[in-house]
Amino acid sequence: MRAPVKLFLASSNPGKLKEYRILAEADAPSSVRVDLALVPECASLPAFEENAATFAENAAGKALHYSRMQEGLIFADDSGLVVPALGGAPGVLSARYAGVAATNSQRIEKLLEEMCDLTREKRGAHFVCAIALARQGRALAVVTDRVDGEILRETRGAGGFGYDPVFYFQPLKKTFAELSAEEKNRHSHRGKAFRKLFVALSSML
Ligand code: IMP
Repeated sequence: MRAPVKLFLASSNPGKLKEYRILAEADAPSSVRVDLALVPECASLPAFEENAATFAENAAGKALHYSRMQEGLIFADDSGLVVPALGGAPGVLSARYAGVAATNSQRIEKLLEEMCDLTREKRGAHFVCAIALARQGRALAVVTDRVDGEILRETRGAGGFGYDPVFYFQPLKKTFAELSAEEKNRHSHRGKAFRKLFVALSSML
């Protein structure tokens, strides 16, 4: 079997690395094994400003940016919640929706407030995840995927993070905060996009 492919995640967040390692273990087709690590000293490198209007552009920009400073294969992601009835908000501003210092509960509170007059038919939403792969300032792949759901009027469940407690996933009749990690990985935007990255990667080897 081939040696594992080393992939550096452009992030200084060990929680994100852990999540991707779990996804890699669960999903790697037998032909591709990966060894995931954070870009070394990522926090001390010049930061990439995620100011683009699309998840894909933010992910690609970030992967390219760090690939100019770190050898090897670099991947970066951008994700968020899109509510069409709110014109796509919170969208690429999902993490900053209620201000940079706000908590998850404050972001959820703001979302529920903005949506309080919307009937069930208008409460559709989707999570999007874009992942880009780059090497030495060149983009090798950009993949995106999404998962569809609807925004409840109150929170349910204690797992997950971010907007999970109000994101209701009809196929399992649960919010994302009520899913096991395994269920969330199978259905989530991030899990689906990461599996696409594997397909792209396996065609490059
Ligand atoms: P980023 O991709 O780390 O910039 O995350 C953007 C923001 O989108 C997060 O801070 C969350 O608020 C939201 N988000 C992205 N993915 C998820 C998810 O799987 N569940 C809940 N919220 C999410």
